[in-house]
Amino acid sequence: RVTSRLRTELGHELPVRALFETPTIAQLATTLGTSAAVDTTAVRRAERPAAVPLSYAQERLWFLDRMDPDGNAYTVPVALHLFGALDPAALEQALHQLAARHEILRTRFAEGADSAPAQVIEPTGSLPLVQVDAGDWDDVDLVAALHQEASRPFDLAHGPLARAHLFRLDPQQHVLLLSMHHIVTDGWSYRIVARELDELYAALRERQPSRLTEPALQYADYAIWERSWLQGELVEGQAAYWREQLAGLEPLDLPTDRPRPAVRSSRGATHTLNLPDTLTTALHKLGQDHGVTTFMTLMATYQILLRTYTGHHDIAVGTPVANRNRSETEDLIGFFVNTLVLRADLTGNPTLREVLNRTRDTALNAYAHQDLPFERLVSELAPQRDLSRTPLFQTMLTVHGSTTDISHCWQLAGLDVQTLPLDDTVAKFDLTVSATEAGPELTIDFTYSTDLFDASTIERLATHFQHLLTAVTTEPDTRLDDLDLLSPDERRRILHEWNDTTAPYPHDRTVHQLVEQQARLRPEAIALVQGERRFSYRELNERANQLAHRLRESGVHPDTTVGICAERSPELVIGLLAVLKAGAAYLPLDPTHPTERLTHLLTSTDTAVVLHHPHQTGLAASLGGTLLALDDPTTAGHPTTDPDPVAHPGSLAFVLHTSGSTGTPKGVQITHRNVLRLTHNTRITDTTPDDVFLHLNSIAFDASSYEIWTPLTTGATLAIAAPGRTTTETATHDIHTHRPTVLLLTTALFHTLVEESSQALAGVRHVLTGGEALSATHVRTFLELHPGSAVVNVYGPTESTTMATCFTCRPGSWEGPVPIGRPIDNTRIHLLDPAGRPVPIGVTGELYLGGDGLARGYHHQPALTADRFVPDPFTPGARLYRTGDLARYRPDGTLDFLGRTDDQVKIRGHRIEPGEIDARLLEHPAVTASTTVVREDTPGDKRLVAYLTTNSTNPPSTSEL
Ligand code: AMP
Ligand code: MG
Repeated sequence: RVTSRLRTELGHELPVRALFETPTIAQLATTLGTSAAVDTTAVRRAERPAAVPLSYAQERLWFLDRMDPDGNAYTVPVALHLFGALDPAALEQALHQLAARHEILRTRFAEGADSAPAQVIEPTGSLPLVQVDAGDWDDVDLVAALHQEASRPFDLAHGPLARAHLFRLDPQQHVLLLSMHHIVTDGWSYRIVARELDELYAALRERQPSRLTEPALQYADYAIWERSWLQGELVEGQAAYWREQLAGLEPLDLPTDRPRPAVRSSRGATHTLNLPDTLTTALHKLGQDHGVTTFMTLMATYQILLRTYTGHHDIAVGTPVANRNRSETEDLIGFFVNTLVLRADLTGNPTLREVLNRTRDTALNAYAHQDLPFERLVSELAPQRDLSRTPLFQTMLTVHGSTTDISHCWQLAGLDVQTLPLDDTVAKFDLTVSATEAGPELTIDFTYSTDLFDASTIERLATHFQHLLTAVTTEPDTRLDDLDLLSPDERRRILHEWNDTTAPYPHDRTVHQLVEQQARLRPEAIALVQGERRFSYRELNERANQLAHRLRESGVHPDTTVGICAERSPELVIGLLAVLKAGAAYLPLDPTHPTERLTHLLTSTDTAVVLHHPHQTGLAASLGGTLLALDDPTTAGHPTTDPDPVAHPGSLAFVLHTSGSTGTPKGVQITHRNVLRLTHNTRITDTTPDDVFLHLNSIAFDASSYEIWTPLTTGATLAIAAPGRTTTETATHDIHTHRPTVLLLTTALFHTLVEESSQALAGVRHVLTGGEALSATHVRTFLELHPGSAVVNVYGPTESTTMATCFTCRPGSWEGPVPIGRPIDNTRIHLLDPAGRPVPIGVTGELYLGGDGLARGYHHQPALTADRFVPDPFTPGARLYRTGDLARYRPDGTLDFLGRTDDQVKIRGHRIEPGEIDARLLEHPAVTASTTVVREDTPGDKRLVAYLTTNSTNPPSTSEL
């Protein structure tokens, strides 16, 4: 409104920047009838009430101060280095007169009878100057003393709320420290203090009366007037505006380095960014061309940065306004600042230019509704106090122009005055960005909560901010999705250095060739052991050869699948090896799984032949297909020699099924090369023929491919756990019997073993565990008990052959949650945003995997394969697997796992898409809707729970479902 009225009144375009920085804007606004003047006469005539109320701004601070654990979060200090011959007596007297002129410097805040605070103004009172002789101090002493004094708490109820200290360094050098509680001051007030102190000091030195006139109003008058003014329509109108503006606002979740504490503290630190002159000049030019202020440009850029960091498109940032838009309040010392919330809608992939325009409109509208005190907004929109975050917005941006930056306003007659930087370690918000314009220079301070962030994280954020500012000035027509935040150095590190995992492995061999090689090299070494049963490499190889010849006879040929339905046993492993030797791929059929599922796996993969263990004959028969018993006596009549090789490294080795959201399991096709990239991977473990692995997992799990083929292709021993379902008890027993040195446990089993039977893991050199988020507490407990062992957190989906990254936990090797580490050998990872661009360090992205572990695809599901295995934009001709997992980089390149983009869950190692269960439930004629979730009502006890609606008065029973 002001802008358009000015346009018509003045007849020309006034740059918006000028508009908001013109000191007389208050008068202009008053003339134009857009802002109320403080009715001085009315206020003066009114008797002061017995209890002077607090202004709304003060009231908010009074409440905040009560919640501040350290009691010093709201101290506003300034330190001045005074060069020249100071007259301390005159300075003391000047401070005294200053306090005499301004009641607010003699005010304290007492709690009244109804527990509402009131302003208590002492009739007389001073701002005493404490003088300290610092003649023999060094710089460190001085800085410490300033810091200590500046962070000393104030007592709002008893006062004083303003303090002055004078440190005398030598006759020609003093440091004056002024500190006030924010409830009696603000940045603008300090300019008044500076002006009047200078005037009073000069007059006192010259023994002249000062030229200052008696203030017409005091802060208390303003507070009383504000209460009567902020009522009715005015408040209603502005409240309605803000209600609509801020409807449905969610807290901004910046990615933090540490978990957010339940109660936020104000411990903070500051990182400073000095923008190069070229950029500052470009920013000013941009402002002129687009009619935007520096504030608006910085705000728009900051909101874009936050969009990148959070992935959200709805970004609210707070900003203070001086709230001095009435001429009557211009000369008052006191706390006037109000806070506005600027909310950006960054949906629709706009260009930078469009965002600037949107921000300008939002800012102008916010200014037009700036009278409503922030506290009234909070009590209306966020009445539930959440002590872990600040209400309505969690990050702030402010710009000090040359006129509002108080560090340049100080002078004292006859002295040279320089402001000394004080460590601004108070973080009122998660992150506050404050820019200071001094002439052509633009300095940006990033003050952050040290509860949440590391210094390096904020440094990086500042670099990204500068990067974005450059983009805004040089390529304003870029769309947000096309923005690139990474510096060339960061890009090189992320894309190349951290993916430099190429290492030799037998990529030109097949799995069975390597077993055959071991059989030749060390025929009598133990390959398999289960209980009392033992098989040397020679026996393993010969038995598998006989079966392989037999399979070939039955018409098994490359790229077909052979079902194998057997309990954990040496026969099972011999069977798997035989299928590979025959040139085919195995399809594991876990006999404990439902028959219906097993039948589906067979038919959907066109599997004609099923190998089975004698115990599973009945089951196997019910599945259909040609049956072949693993211990069929006629097999012994076949040659024991290695069959002619027909499979090659790219041939299928096996097909593993995982849950599919449409109700159909997905068959993941793994090749020989895929397997060897896993088994010969020194980043996971270094294995020797002396190692003993334990086969513990179901062969339907991808974990089994690691635990079976790693020992057998490297000449170590494979111990086989007892058949049946693996529980804490059976695992404890098997580990006790076989004393493995390497073990791969599902995360759930690792957790329960540590809780219930940690001694069982004694002597296991490498405990590999994966499948779900690993608990740091459990790992620590384990390492304390077994200091010689390592826990390796292994991460990876079946589609990239069991493992893609790993992290080795040793005492002190990590902080916070257990990372999933770095890519293993011959594996590349990319963290991409939804537009497919690499995200910076510290920012959440979706994990994409590349390299030699990538499965061929999903069996018979080309559309699904194309959807999940996408072209690699960084390596021509290569593919990436889109995992649906979320992660982010730590500064050293290790990855933190952060959950899923979809609702896929893990329960006791089973990967489940709830949609698969819903799809099955919906097949029941009575079920009309279903939704499946995981509940963990008792910690550690995850359960799948389906909620459904039926169309029948006679709902189906649970067992029927
Ligand atoms: P699966 O294909 O059954 O091995 O399941 C792979 C999925 O399990 C991954 O996509 C992740 O969601 C999850 N996962 C595997 N390992 C880990 C791990 N170490 N930490 C957290 N989640 C994991
Ligand atoms: Mg797995």
